[in-house]
Amino acid sequence: GERTLEPDMAAGTDGGYDVEAIRRDFPILGDLIYLDNAATSFSPEPVIAAMVEFEHRYRANVGRGIHRLTGIASQRYWHAHEKVADFIGGKDGVVVFTRNTTESVNMVAQGLPWKAGDRVITTILEHHSNLLPWRRLARQGVTTEIVGIGPDYQPDLAALERAVTENTRLVALTQASNVLGVVTPIREIAKICHDHGALLLVDGAQAVPHMPVNTEDLGCDFYCFSGHKMSGPTGTGVLWMKEACIEPAMLGGGMIETVTADGYTLSPGYQQYEAGTPNIAGGIGLGAAVSYLQAIGMERIHRYEAGLTDRLIAALSKNNRIHVYAPPDPARRIGVVSFTVDGFHPHEVALQLDEAADIMVRSGHHCCQPLVESLGLPEGTVRASLAYYNTRQEIDLLVATLDEITR
Ligand code: PLP
Repeated sequence: GERTLEPDMAAGTDGGYDVEAIRRDFPILGDLIYLDNAATSFSPEPVIAAMVEFEHRYRANVGRGIHRLTGIASQRYWHAHEKVADFIGGKDGVVVFTRNTTESVNMVAQGLPWKAGDRVITTILEHHSNLLPWRRLARQGVTTEIVGIGPDYQPDLAALERAVTENTRLVALTQASNVLGVVTPIREIAKICHDHGALLLVDGAQAVPHMPVNTEDLGCDFYCFSGHKMSGPTGTGVLWMKEACIEPAMLGGGMIETVTADGYTLSPGYQQYEAGTPNIAGGIGLGAAVSYLQAIGMERIHRYEAGLTDRLIAALSKNNRIHVYAPPDPARRIGVVSFTVDGFHPHEVALQLDEAADIMVRSGHHCCQPLVESLGLPEGTVRASLAYYNTRQEIDLLVATLDEITR
């Protein structure tokens, strides 16, 4: 269905949404126009302050020993997991801190007990990090099937349903594409999976920064995302699991209940998946990022960004030398907008935007080579990806600069 935007929102502003106040928390913004948020995002001052506070006041290892500092560090690090669980409606599951989405997906690929003949179904929309870990399972006799997309860029649900057979162990797909910005119908796909006894893994790397996410509502079994794409520190990511049903990829310190000369028992909960000293400052910073986003509100962020996205797509579409690859339904897309410019390689456009107007965008295949090939765009696209701290003025400057370049 068509989303109804309040008039001022359609124009990219929101009565109560004070983007200038938000921007004051981001000293890095300066005079730069950063539209590469799908690659990684900026952290606001409270996130940086939380990490600095750890270094200045209570740096110690976690889950080991009983002195005062380790007590504070452990409590804050543990609490960050709680915050993340709350943020994604996943309190009944297990939140594991990882380095990024890539690590989260690989942990599931390596940790499930596969047998020869098992099948994994995925889609042509996927980022390489939700494709290659499944492909590698071919060595264990596991086959991967890729489902295509329709003209609306949605996964072909009929083909997906046909592909899910009794040997299908897992369906792995993205909730939002980092190339096309399309938002997939996870709930419907979860139903297909569970009707056929398959597990569902969702790559939420591009969904979590832009919209409210509730894993329980979605009905998935695994949910993977990157902290650094949602204003958390680099080197942070999350694997959420409905149940602790995979083997830990690594063994070592900080993850066991008991070790004897000839055996061990694993800690319950997330600890068993976080062997060794974790990225403590990063985890605490990620917790601070969750608090920051929650204070603004993901629903409001989603609406605000939708206004910017609609504005950008409409303006780009007016230039007949620019081709926009956007899902037609505004209610099923996020602020990731791909386009090509007649007569220019995508990298050339990105370079000119940087040199002429301090605008940072991504260009190329966006780690989605099978997708861009299937779209007939082997050189890839130019991609502008938005965040909650971008403004209408920035969108307008991007469009004006592109109009200039194509004149
Ligand atoms: N999946 C999607 C949809 C992405 O956009 C990205 C980002 O590059 C990834 C996975 C991989 O994320 P990371 O590089 O943080 O592992």
